[in-house]
Amino acid sequence: MQHRSRALRQAGRTLAFVPTMGYLHDGHLALMREGRRLADVLVASIYVNPTQFAPGEDFEAYPRDMAKDCRLAETIPVDILFTPDDRAIYADGCQTFVTPQDLAQRMCGLSRPIFFRGVATVVTKLFHIVAPHVALFGEKDFQQLTIIRRMVRDLNFAVDIVGVPTVREPDGLAMSSRNAYLKPDQRQAALSLSQSLQEARKQVANGETRADRIIAATTARIEAHPETAIDYIVIVDPDTLENVNVIDRPVRMALAVKVGTTRLIDNMPLDPNT
Ligand code: AMP
Repeated sequence: MQHRSRALRQAGRTLAFVPTMGYLHDGHLALMREGRRLADVLVASIYVNPTQFAPGEDFEAYPRDMAKDCRLAETIPVDILFTPDDRAIYADGCQTFVTPQDLAQRMCGLSRPIFFRGVATVVTKLFHIVAPHVALFGEKDFQQLTIIRRMVRDLNFAVDIVGVPTVREPDGLAMSSRNAYLKPDQRQAALSLSQSLQEARKQVANGETRADRIIAATTARIEAHPETAIDYIVIVDPDTLENVNVIDRPVRMALAVKVGTTRLIDNMPLDPNT
């Protein structure tokens, strides 16, 4: 992969890159379509990265279907599907990690303390191997997108980061490989995430500016469903991820909720001017 991307660059071609953990859905494909548009050569990777899973999380159970993923990638089409194994990425273990600081110590970082270190490290490694001009990440993982943007700036990576809006099921549920874990009755509870974010948007459109009131209403809506356990609900500045008390500018509302044993995340922009 490293030799091929160097050769393509030397031949004057531009490269777009979409890193994924596979079990592809329309969210991943939206990133790939955008990458296809932005560069000459589209590279996508499929790699379930062990260093971002803590013991007891779902690394072994994470859904995998390489044959189907290859077929879906063909439909874009992806030019190069990079599917390294653990030996290629962590040949001799790993003594060196990229550890994002404050941005990684809030929201998902509180319940998953090693998660963003694993993500930042594997994205760094993949960037060094693929050497893309542009890389695409989903807004679905808003904290991850913010951290990657910041890492690229802090560590002088020569790559443009492009964020792509969240792709949803027709009923509003944000697409995720982990939705495959949901039992039919849990699916209704899972819908409360996107529905309550939509309600929050309406509250802001109706003039509500107090974050605590919006969070209280969202909490009640989600807790009304059985099998839900809220991890966090926050309204934050989109760059610093610091809590916002008064919504007087565009902000981001984000939440993480366990439905049964499945942890789901979602987020939406809140803009008092629209
Ligand atoms: P994953 O395979 O879950 O690690 O995701 C790979 C990339 O796809 C990340 O940049 C995600 O943010 C993005 N992604 C996942 N789900 C969606 C979605 N529903 N809409 C847009 N992007 C997504």
